[in-house]
Order: sequence, then C-alpha cells, then structure tokens
Amino acid sequence: MYAGHFAIGLAIKAAAPRTPALPILMGVGLLDLLDGIFIVLGIDRVAPNLASGPYLYFDLLFIDWDHSLLMAVVLSLVWGAFFLRDRRVAAIAAAAVFSHWLADWPVHNGDLAAYPHSVEHYGYGLWGKLGMGSWLLEGLFAAVLLAYAWTANARRGVGTLWPAVVLVVLFLQLSPWLSPMKIVARFDEPAAHLAHGALVALGFLVPALLLTWLVDRAERRM
Ligand SMILES: [Zn+2]
Repeated sequence: MYAGHFAIGLAIKAAAPRTPALPILMGVGLLDLLDGIFIVLGIDRVAPNLASGPYLYFDLLFIDWDHSLLMAVVLSLVWGAFFLRDRRVAAIAAAAVFSHWLADWPVHNGDLAAYPHSVEHYGYGLWGKLGMGSWLLEGLFAAVLLAYAWTANARRGVGTLWPAVVLVVLFLQLSPWLSPMKIVARFDEPAAHLAHGALVALGFLVPALLLTWLVDRAERRM
C-alpha cells in the first residue's frame, strides 16, 4: 500500500488535531522508509517481477526486519518512545506506525513474516489476486479516509485542499501506468534493487515532509 498509508495519517491527524503532524505522517510510512534503506543496504531482498501486482513490479523476498509483525510492534514502540515527553503523542505516533502493517496485510502477497526469519507469513495478497483492482480499492480506501479528514478539519475551519492534492498525485503516480517501479524493474541487477530501494525510501520521506508542512500551514491559517 502507498497513498493509503498517507490517507490513514491525514485521518489520524484530523481525529487528533493537537498532535504534531510529523510523528503521525512520518510514522505511517516508517516501515517503508526503513524498507527502502534496508534494500539499498542489502539487509532486505527484493526481485523484479512485472507480474507481482498493480504498481510495485517487485517481489518482496525478505523484508522481515521492517515488515514482520514482531518488528512492526517493536518499531511502533521505538517511534513512540521518541515522543514520550507527551504520552498521548507517543501513543498516537506508535499507532500510526502500526497502522502501516495492518494496512499492508490485505494487499501484500504473503511476504509479511511473523518475526524475522519465521516460516509463518501473512498477507491476503490482493495485489496478486486483483491486480489493478487492488490499486482501485486502495484509492477508494484513501478517498473515504480523506473525506473524513476533510470534514473533520472543516468543522474546525481548517482546509485540507493541498494535502488532498498531494494524496491524489501520489495515488496516480504509483499507478499501473505511471509507476517508476515498472522502469526500474527492467534494470540489470544490482541497479534494479538499488533504484527500487532508493525510490521506496524517497517515496515515503518526501511526501511525509511535504504533507507535514502543508498540514501545519493549514493549521496555522485557521
Ligand atoms: Zn509497507
């Protein structure tokens, strides 16, 4: 899942508007930010596969240090600990990180381990089962969350237009037609997995910072 994670972040922020945006909007993508870095470092293993799903075009062979259930719990607690000065913020930041694993579960093709190197794997596999349909479902999911954030923010006189524009751009950019992963998957190795890792990391870091800035700006304007 991609744009859906940021939609969850915008919804959490709208539900808890006094929580700073960064712990939430960086939190929802933290597992994938680490995933990208770990792929570049060779800790995670991915392989190009143009049939793997609607927009990723890579099989995730080993992502256990960021996307196993146990590590999702651990990383949620670690991220929350950064904000322990306010226990409420810490709890919301941790929940934002864990939301990533829950949202990934329906789409991932059985590549989510229980714990690092476990035989047991989870993931309902909508990417593989539905292909483009899973991308459309993710869009619907994101739209519902965005509508909630929009109305909740509007009640406080806060606009959501620019975060919504970014979300739509992200959704369209990682689509079956525009996904840069389709180009990268045709590279020779090791360029393919290195470029994939770099794109995953940047694809979560940059939108998290941009959305944080836009959400904070809208809050200041109210
Ligand atoms: Zn993920």
